[in-house]
Amino acid sequence: MTMKHSDFLVVGAGLIGSAVACGLLRRNHSVTLLDEGGEALRASLGNFGLVWVQGKGQGARHYAEWCHEASEVFPEYARQLQDETGVELAYRKPGGLTLCHGEAEYQKRTQVLERLKNESRHGAYDCSMLSRQEVQKMLPTLTLGPGVTGGSYSPHDGYLNPLALLKALHTSITLGGGAFCSGTAAINIRYENGRFLISTQKGEFSAEKIVLAAGHGITRLAAMVGMQVEVHPQQGQLMVTERTRPVLSMPISGIQQTAEGSFIVGLSNREVGFNTDTDTRLLKQMAQRVVNAFPALASLRIVRSWSSLRVLSADGLPIYQQSEICPGAYAITSHSGVTLAPLHQTHIADWIVDGVQPDEFENFSTRRFDVEKIA
Ligand SMILES: Cc1cc2nc3c(=O)[nH]c(=O)nc-3n(C[C@H](O)[C@H](O)[C@H](O)COP(=O)(O)OP(=O)(O)OC[C@H]3O[C@@H](n4cnc5c(N)ncnc54)[C@H](O)[C@@H]3O)c2cc1C
Repeated sequence: MTMKHSDFLVVGAGLIGSAVACGLLRRNHSVTLLDEGGEALRASLGNFGLVWVQGKGQGARHYAEWCHEASEVFPEYARQLQDETGVELAYRKPGGLTLCHGEAEYQKRTQVLERLKNESRHGAYDCSMLSRQEVQKMLPTLTLGPGVTGGSYSPHDGYLNPLALLKALHTSITLGGGAFCSGTAAINIRYENGRFLISTQKGEFSAEKIVLAAGHGITRLAAMVGMQVEVHPQQGQLMVTERTRPVLSMPISGIQQTAEGSFIVGLSNREVGFNTDTDTRLLKQMAQRVVNAFPALASLRIVRSWSSLRVLSADGLPIYQQSEICPGAYAITSHSGVTLAPLHQTHIADWIVDGVQPDEFENFSTRRFDVEKIA
């Protein structure tokens, strides 16, 4: 079998690896993308599609700013990706709401925003608490249930069709001349004479640099090039309703109406290991919360439900790490892979091509966990 060589090998064609691969191609390098597919866990196929800023980054200003930057560049990013690939992303940025049910939730949300404001660089955090009346004014076509006490609103939030985003990235890779090898799991990685060799069932691949973006598969692969990258699964369950006329004009944390008219509900996070079963009791609770928010939706039929596993680091923040033992090997993993796609395609790809780590990336390196261990 002949060895296939390229400048970069990217392992994992989910939202993270695909966005990085697009960025590498844009810098005129040859890129091969290997993806296991099949039975592999793939967070990018089961997510909610929010481009979301509000509430993120408590105690981690760098992450709050990172998400904010992504939301700022997202409209232009989406426009360009759509123009290039012809894939309609259904991206909209009307701002987003988080609803509060009851007084305790309202107080808690107020405290979260207060903390984010205090931690922000200029003492300002562009997300406001709204009274019940103010929320109702923003949602004129849906009457709020009696238990809704208000909510928070940020103009920076938006949403899209996440499967379309993944399809657009894959299309862009193909159009850009990238080699896409699906059904090709990286089995072993060797580092020899400054080159990486990845063995798969379909033969061996080599490259000057490699990007490990294999979601839940990253820990095993990263260890082969001297990196300790720990991630764990957190299950999220989602359900989708039949289509109805457009009534919800902006995404609400956990509830959104798609361009086609279906409601998608995703209001859960459970620590159940690699279990991807759905749980009827939990789905019922989620549906009840939606009906409590908007009683008029009670008659909608649920047509599908699924669960998917978030890929989370110990503190829930991204990991962007270059191997110290095998320079040229990078581990990239993150929750919020939809939101951060434009930054993974630009800043992360530039770092990998140029080899110059932006200062702020130190916050996202695995070294932060060493500090925690010592402390
Ligand atoms: C329920 C849920 C809701 C979410 N909602 C949002 C949201 O609203 N907004 C947002 O921004 N983010 C959201 N996310 C997070 C987002 O989906 C993830 O950040 C993103 O999908 C992670 O992408 P990834 O490429 O790292 O992982 P994955 O999508 O899991 O991709 C990893 C890829 O690596 C491949 N792979 C694994 N091992 C190997 C190997 N050995 N060789 C080759 N290939 C391999 C797999 O086949 C897979 O395709 C949500 C996630 C979940 C689970």
